[in-house]
Amino acid sequence: MVRVRFAPSPTGYLHVGGARTALFNWLYARRHGGTFVLRIEDTDAERSSWDMVAGIVDGLRWLGLDWDEGPDVGGPHAPYFQSQRLDRHRELAERLVRDGRAYYCYCTADEMQRKRADAEGRGETWTYDRTCERRSADEIAALEASGTPRAIRFRVPPGETPFTDLVHGPIAFDNANLEDFVILRSDRQPTYHLSVVADDIDMAITHVVRGDDHISNTPKQVLLYQAFGVTPPAFAHVPLILGPDKKRLSKRHGATSVMEYHRLGYLPEAMVNFLALLGWSPGNDRELFSRDELVAAFTLEGISGGNAVFNPEKLDWFNQQHIARLSSAALLARLETRLEDAGLWTDDLATTRVGWILSVLDLLKPRVKKLDQLLDELRPFLVDDPEIDPSAAQKYLSSGEVRSLLDTLASALETVEPFGEATIEATLRATAERAGVKAAALIHATRVAVTGRAVSAGLFQVLVLLGRECVVRRLRRILNYTPAA
Ligand code: GLU
Repeated sequence: MVRVRFAPSPTGYLHVGGARTALFNWLYARRHGGTFVLRIEDTDAERSSWDMVAGIVDGLRWLGLDWDEGPDVGGPHAPYFQSQRLDRHRELAERLVRDGRAYYCYCTADEMQRKRADAEGRGETWTYDRTCERRSADEIAALEASGTPRAIRFRVPPGETPFTDLVHGPIAFDNANLEDFVILRSDRQPTYHLSVVADDIDMAITHVVRGDDHISNTPKQVLLYQAFGVTPPAFAHVPLILGPDKKRLSKRHGATSVMEYHRLGYLPEAMVNFLALLGWSPGNDRELFSRDELVAAFTLEGISGGNAVFNPEKLDWFNQQHIARLSSAALLARLETRLEDAGLWTDDLATTRVGWILSVLDLLKPRVKKLDQLLDELRPFLVDDPEIDPSAAQKYLSSGEVRSLLDTLASALETVEPFGEATIEATLRATAERAGVKAAALIHATRVAVTGRAVSAGLFQVLVLLGRECVVRRLRRILNYTPAA
């Protein structure tokens, strides 16, 4: 039974790297009918906040990465906030002391700092020198009697700690390079290594899928599993995400928060598809996947060991593809709030004019990369009279002859039957020819008059969708239009 977890520390929003880790865990759970656990590792009280927890939860929900156990949904291993599990971690630390796998350490920060400085002065790196491991019973009794604060250190055994990483293959660390690390601080705060292992054991986690930055933590954690007499889970360390300049992805490269991509007009389907291919490959050239198709194709073995590069143009491409794949009805639902915010929504778009707006979306959706762009393309269809872009006017409406020809065209279009693409086109071409003006010039001028812009979807389709009355009115307004000098 597969049980995986996403275990974010809520010290920031959900960033692209975290979202990808969550996605890989989620895909693996769904692929194998397993359980996806969300555990909030909020032990750093100063750096964690509810806002950050909410931000992470919102990000996961937006991406559609639902969890089977965790905040809000609960589960058999509650609580899912690490800060509420610390007593259990303390108990386990004491157990390791009783079992001889860990020991109390009375060394003060000052003492250790001095030793470290001395060693560095000699050009050496200092690791904990096991002062407290060698103390006599009398010494310990005296330290206890004087109430000296004590931490708990794990006694690293000699030898090697090997583990198999499902991404990187077999890895072994020489224990000589691992100092006797602290598992419980002198203020009784458990450290990350203890907490994460304790919770993964208690939550029966079978696979730990997380960022490459945790590889060096793994031997210490494997040693803890062994000390608790528990078989470690399988590990899969996922490569880092780099910016296009091959440096670690950061804000310098643009948005790193997942919800920022939501605001920028990306679809969650596109984000999921894009993130999945950052470091994972289906083993062939296929790129476009729905969420279900990813679930069916996902394997941990398909994760590559090399770093993944975040390419914003690729994300745009995925977004364009997923927008085009979405039905116009689904697209309209996604746009509703944005249209409202832009003051472009009217309730008849969901009732009497729904057929019309869906046809407009059919026309526009292949043209855009982001929802914002779509909103912009929709504007001429949803406002009374769109503003005219001055540079478009300068280019295509500067001739008085063409401007008055728009009025002639308006009159011709008032009576043409039916008001369809072919008849409109024939009328426009005939109007241009009679006046000895190039059809292209009249087409451009018409587009600017009617949409306010120099570029749009196919003009005759646009005119049909706008309808006769609107087109005639917008063409006529040009008679009173004075182009900027
Ligand atoms: N809370 C840790 C982090 O956010 C994750 C620990 C883990 O996955 O083992 O980096």
